[in-house]
Amino acid sequence: MHKETLAIHAGYERDGQKSMAVPIYMTTAFAFESAEHAASLFALEREGNIYTRIGNPTTEVLEARFAALEGGVGALATASGMAAITYALLNLCQAGDNIVVANQLYGGSVTLVTHTLKRLGIEGRTFDLHNPEELESKIDEKTRAIFFESITNPSIDVPDFQSLVAIANRHGIITITDNTVATPILCNPLELGVDVVVHSTSKYTTGQGLALGGIIVEGASAKEKLQSQRYPHFNEPDPSYHGLIYTQTPYPPFTLRARLSLLRDMGAAPSPFNSWLFIQGLEHLPLRIRQHSQSALTIAKWLAQHPKVQRVHYPLLPDDPNYPNATKYLKGGASGLLSFEVASFEEAKRIANSVTLFARVVNIGDSKSIITHPASTTHQQLSPEELLAAGVKPGLIRLSIGLEHPQDLIADLEQALSA
Ligand SMILES: *Cc1c(COP(=O)(O)O)cnc(C)c1O
Repeated sequence: MHKETLAIHAGYERDGQKSMAVPIYMTTAFAFESAEHAASLFALEREGNIYTRIGNPTTEVLEARFAALEGGVGALATASGMAAITYALLNLCQAGDNIVVANQLYGGSVTLVTHTLKRLGIEGRTFDLHNPEELESKIDEKTRAIFFESITNPSIDVPDFQSLVAIANRHGIITITDNTVATPILCNPLELGVDVVVHSTSKYTTGQGLALGGIIVEGASAKEKLQSQRYPHFNEPDPSYHGLIYTQTPYPPFTLRARLSLLRDMGAAPSPFNSWLFIQGLEHLPLRIRQHSQSALTIAKWLAQHPKVQRVHYPLLPDDPNYPNATKYLKGGASGLLSFEVASFEEAKRIANSVTLFARVVNIGDSKSIITHPASTTHQQLSPEELLAAGVKPGLIRLSIGLEHPQDLIADLEQALSA
C-alpha cells in the first residue's frame, strides 16, 4: 500500500467499541486472567499487555504504523528522540567497544557520543559524511555500529547511502540512520540497505511542536548481522531474562532486546497520550511534508538571488554539493530545513532580531516557521576554530520552514535582510 494509506490505517484494527480514532489506553498496568496467564506473558509464550513501561496498546499502534511507513519488521517507541538514539546504540555495544559516527550530527547526539557514552567506556570515532574511505579506516573488530543522519541537522547534508552501506556490509556492522528531518515519507533508509532507523518524533510527526518522543525501527536485514560473532550478546542466553536468546525467537531481535532489556531497565517509555498525538500527526504527515519541502525550495531559490546572501544550503538547489545524493535518495522533496550565510556574525544576529513572522526558537519541524542563529545560540560556547570544524560560520542562519504561505515568509525575510 501507499504511504498515504499506511499513515492512516496501518497497525489499528477497531476494537469492540468500534472506535474510529485509536483509543488512548491511559493506564500503567494491565490485569492478568490468572497466575498462569501472567507467567505465559512473561515467558513470551502469549502476546498481551503487562505494564506500560514495556508496552502499551496505544503505543503499539504507533510502533506498527512507523514500522509500516519505514518498511521495517519491528519498532520501539521511546520518551524522546535522544532516548531512541541512546537505546539503539546501547543495544549494540558495551564498555571497550566503539561506534563510528558522522561528524555532521545533531548536537544532542554529538554530546551523547563524545561525553556520556565515553564515560561508559564506549569510544566514539568520527568520519566526514562525504568521505567513505575515512569511515572504513575507523572500523575495527570492536566496532559495533555506524551512525549517520539522512538529512543532517544543522548542516543539511545528504549522505551517499550506497557507499556507506557497502562498507558496513563488508564488515558486518549494523548501520543506524537518524531519519528525523527527512521523515519516512521523503526517505526510507531501510530500503537503501540501512539496518536500523531512529527518529525524534518531537519534530515533523505531530508537526506542531506538541510533544517529545522517539522511535527505533528495525529492518529485516538486522537479524542476519546480529547472528554473527560481532554481537555475541544477541546469540548467548541473557541471564537477566531467564536465558532468552534474542536471535532465536520469532520476534525481531533488535527491537525485542531494546524492549525487554533496555526499556525494562532504563525506562524512558512514552506516555500513551503522546503516542496518540503522534498517531494523529502521522495521518497527515505525507501532505504536510510535501508542503514544507515545496515552500523551503521556493524560499531557498529566493534567498539564492538576494544580494546580501552569500550562500544558500538546500539539497535540492542544483548547485548544492548534496544535489546528486538528494535527487538519488530523497522522494519528492528535501524537507523544511535550509540555511544561508550572510557577511558577518553581527549581520546574522541583526536579521534574526528583525524577523517578525519567524520565531526565534531552537527547534525544527513545526508548522510555525523558526529562525536560529547558531553562532550566538546553540553553538555560542565554541571557539571560532571549533565553529568552522562544526560547519557553523559566524554569519550562518538556519531556517525551519513552516506551513505559512511562502510569500509571507519571503516578505518577512525581505524586510529583515534590508532593515
Ligand atoms: C531533535 C532531534 C533529535 C533529538 O530528539 P528529541 O526528541 O529532542 O530528544 C535527534 N536527532 C535529530 C536529527 C533531531 O532533530
